[in-house]
Amino acid sequence: MRIGMVTLGCDKNTVDNEYLAGLLGRDGHAVEVADPARPPDVVVITTCGFIQAARDQSLEAIAEWSRVRARSGTRLGVIGCLAQRSREDLLRRYPDIDFLAGVGEFHKVARLVAGEQRSRFLADTAPESATWNLGAQSPAANETIEFDDRAFSDDAPRVLVPEALPRTRLERRPHGFLKISDGCNHTCTFCSIPLMKGVYSSVPKAILLDEARRMLDEGIREINVVAQDITKYGFDIEKRFMLPELLDALASLSGEFWIRLFYLYPSTVTTDLIQVMQSHPKIARYLDIPLQHLDPAVLQRMRRPHDRARTMDMLRRIRAELPDCALRTTFIVGFPGETPDEFRTLMDSVREIRFERMGVFTYSREPGTPAADLPNQVTDKVKQRRREKLMKLQSGISAEWAAAQVGTERRVLVESAVPGKPWYVGRSHSEAADIDGVVRVHSETPLAVGDFVTVRITEADVYDLTGEALVPARVDTV
Ligand code: SF4
Repeated sequence: MRIGMVTLGCDKNTVDNEYLAGLLGRDGHAVEVADPARPPDVVVITTCGFIQAARDQSLEAIAEWSRVRARSGTRLGVIGCLAQRSREDLLRRYPDIDFLAGVGEFHKVARLVAGEQRSRFLADTAPESATWNLGAQSPAANETIEFDDRAFSDDAPRVLVPEALPRTRLERRPHGFLKISDGCNHTCTFCSIPLMKGVYSSVPKAILLDEARRMLDEGIREINVVAQDITKYGFDIEKRFMLPELLDALASLSGEFWIRLFYLYPSTVTTDLIQVMQSHPKIARYLDIPLQHLDPAVLQRMRRPHDRARTMDMLRRIRAELPDCALRTTFIVGFPGETPDEFRTLMDSVREIRFERMGVFTYSREPGTPAADLPNQVTDKVKQRRREKLMKLQSGISAEWAAAQVGTERRVLVESAVPGKPWYVGRSHSEAADIDGVVRVHSETPLAVGDFVTVRITEADVYDLTGEALVPARVDTV
């Protein structure tokens, strides 16, 4: 059977689809990226339910494949976060959906996709009514919440990987994702992810090491470590933070590669973590720490770590102890009740820390989350204006940072070649794939995708760097 996959949403979905493709491939099916021009026998759309814009994108994809189904007979399957959260609504809107499943349960979803399971959806996919039991905690509660073990109803979602699963990558690129856990026990008031992904569930270390080895054997040169919060890795298993020891083991694997860390929760960036980064050159000097805001009152309403002094200390410490570490963060502007003064605190903090990379989102009022019911919702116009102001500030900081790189030498991973020209596109430790800029590399000596080369930077614009390859030969040690 030919099975086409549509992967929407975040890198966690990418990994889940690779598990599914691996299981289906093992059963003899041909799995590919879905193309409406070549309708497959079955299409599986992995949806995202994070914010309205993501939901709209998922709905558009379902509508498009519903039209393909009408003309070609392709079986239409919808899985993932939006299917988890809005099963009834999806079936009402698109009665021609052939099967539907939520998150996790990879073996069962594979049977559903292959048509071996007779029901239209997984019996244990949570109904729409599955909600967090948020208890009596008010939005003003403090950081102790972060290890709050909230309860799910019995049919709540959960993403578990209790055994090694085969993985098939649908795109051939020199970077890949290692999802070390899924779900989240934090209670950020704006976020609906725990409603869709369930409680925090770590993948056992042995499975991750095995996966990482397979990734390296397949030519991956950059392992992106992802989860909803990677700093809490292992806490659900052994009640201690195991990320540093996991990274130590990953960085001790042989081969030429680097590891990049995403989604660190600010209050659990530990000394051990900084030390393991200091001792392993294979861990890229890049940290993605979504802060969401830097005004204590807003953070408190968000139920995020709101000890601003502690967060700023942590950031200054990274600057001091991990020189040349690129800091990426994301902020939400226009959170309910955000005053001009609170927004100013955020702007001032950004001026002080000078993040190399930043994403800014306008607050999205998510049904079922506590923040949706908070008073003093900010108008769209004000949200947009604040976003533009913050982005403008950041583009100045980014441009200055990029200009300061001219004349430096950077180690670059070659990601693609410009056909017929002596030009390549790559990334140094400061650029993550698809979200940051790139390094354009000129080299008269042919380079291969997946090579690491030393590049002298000759030009810079706001986000991208340009340079000349100095050492086209492979570097043996890192
Ligand atoms: S830590 Fe991230 S995934 Fe978890 S509730 Fe907060 S924003 Fe959502």
